Amino acid sequence: MLEVVHVTKRYRKVLANDDINLTIEDGRIGVLLGPNGAGKSTIIKCIMGFLKYQGQIQVNGLENKSIEAKKIMGYIPEIPSLYPNLTVDEHMEFIARAYKLKDYKAYKDALLERFDLTDKKKKFGDELSKGMQQKLSICCGLLPRPRLVLFDEPMIGLDPHAIKELKKVFEELRDSGCMVLVSTHMIDSMEELWDTTYIMKQGRVAAVVERENLKDNNKSLEDIFFEI
Ligand code: ATP
Repeated sequence: MLEVVHVTKRYRKVLANDDINLTIEDGRIGVLLGPNGAGKSTIIKCIMGFLKYQGQIQVNGLENKSIEAKKIMGYIPEIPSLYPNLTVDEHMEFIARAYKLKDYKAYKDALLERFDLTDKKKKFGDELSKGMQQKLSICCGLLPRPRLVLFDEPMIGLDPHAIKELKKVFEELRDSGCMVLVSTHMIDSMEELWDTTYIMKQGRVAAVVERENLKDNNKSLEDIFFEI
């Protein structure tokens, strides 16, 4: 389980996250929904342990900044951070070495195939289009088979085929018991996939919407989003 408890993050005068509480259980997909500047990327970076913040974050009972937690967390950033001088295949091998992966070759090939990168294995990072860079970034994030996967605006720049494959990946991760957290500013981009949506406004979680509860109050996610 991912547990974010009373997390507050300031960048000097900007209160980017104001007392954020959220929980993602195993086998569930959470969505951070909100406009630009709402604080989605910041909370994801706090969860990954990249930033200093006030509050507590635990993953499967482990403190998020511990080495044990880092081994089970995967992050796909909004802007891919690739190495211009490494090829597609070398990026994947680099990740495999960094995580000391064993028996990863078949999964590596399956990921590259799924995201149309098989015939681009020898291309360098800076020879790839923005969309291809995003696909490689997704493959790199998934290769270590993380239990908690954080996707920051993952669909931006992807072609329709890649979006379809990515949605299948979300489902597979969920069905295999992983915790998935996806940030987006597009209300219908996660359609039927989410279990819990955290609506973020101005650094705060303005509403928590559970899919199970939507049926009871006859409101759509859109209704709730525009009401608050
Ligand atoms: P976007 O999709 O535009 O990134 P977001 O919902 O992810 O939006 P954040 O990037 O988390 O929002 O930004 C939240 C607030 O923090 C914004 O006001 C932003 O300008 C500010 N902010 C983000 N990063 C920094 C930084 N490194 N230094 C100062 N302010 C920052």
